[in-house]
Amino acid sequence: MGMKIRVIVATRNAHKVEEIRAILSDCEVLDLSAVEDPPEVEETGTTFVANATLKAVAISKLTDALVLSDDSGLEVDALGGEPGVYSSRYAGEDGNDALNNEKLLRELEGREDRTARFRCVMVLARAGEVLADFSGSVEGGILAARQGEGGFGYDPLFAPEGYEASFAELGEEVKNGMSHRARALDGVVKWLARFS
Ligand code: IMP
Repeated sequence: MGMKIRVIVATRNAHKVEEIRAILSDCEVLDLSAVEDPPEVEETGTTFVANATLKAVAISKLTDALVLSDDSGLEVDALGGEPGVYSSRYAGEDGNDALNNEKLLRELEGREDRTARFRCVMVLARAGEVLADFSGSVEGGILAARQGEGGFGYDPLFAPEGYEASFAELGEEVKNGMSHRARALDGVVKWLARFS
C-alpha cells in the first residue's frame, strides 16, 4: 500500500469539500485552509471549464500538492440553460441558496417543462499547470416547492430522473452515488489511479 495522494480542493464551499472527501476516500482531501492566504479567485469565465481552470491554476501556484477545483451549476431547459455558470449568483451577488431557490421557482411559475440537469466540471492542476479536466452531469426535474433539508444549493428543488424525492431528501449516500460531482470524480479517480 502506497501513501495516500494528497489533494487540495480549491473551493470555499464546505458542502463540495465534504462530498468530494466522501467519494475520494482513497485520497487525503484537504480544503483551502491547507494553503496560506488563498486568494478570492474571481469567476470571470463564461463556461464551467473556464472557471474551474481559473480556480485550480491560481491555487496550485501556492502549493506543491495536487489541486482539484469544482465548478458546477444547474441548467434548466425552459430557461435556456440558466442559471448555468451563474447558479451561485442567480439572485444577485448578495444572494444565498434560499433566495436562489425562490427566484428559480418564480421563473418557472406556470411552466410545464421542468426538466433540468446539474453539471460539474473539475480541473486537476499542479504548479500552475492544468493536468486534466473532467465532467459529469445528472438529469432531473425542478419540483414545485422545496423538499427536504439536506444538501446545499438547489438540492431541495431537484429530483433526479426516476425519483419523486429531491436530492435534499434522498441524502448524501444516494446523491453521492449518482450526482454530477460523483460522475466527474469517476474520471478523477481513474486519472489518479496511475499514480498509486
Ligand atoms: P460555483 O461554486 O461557482 O461552482 O457555484 C456552484 C453553484 O451551483 C452552487 O452555489 C449551487 O447553487 C449550484 N450547485 C452546484 N452543485 C450543486 C449540488 O450538488 N447541489 C445543489 N446545488 C449545486
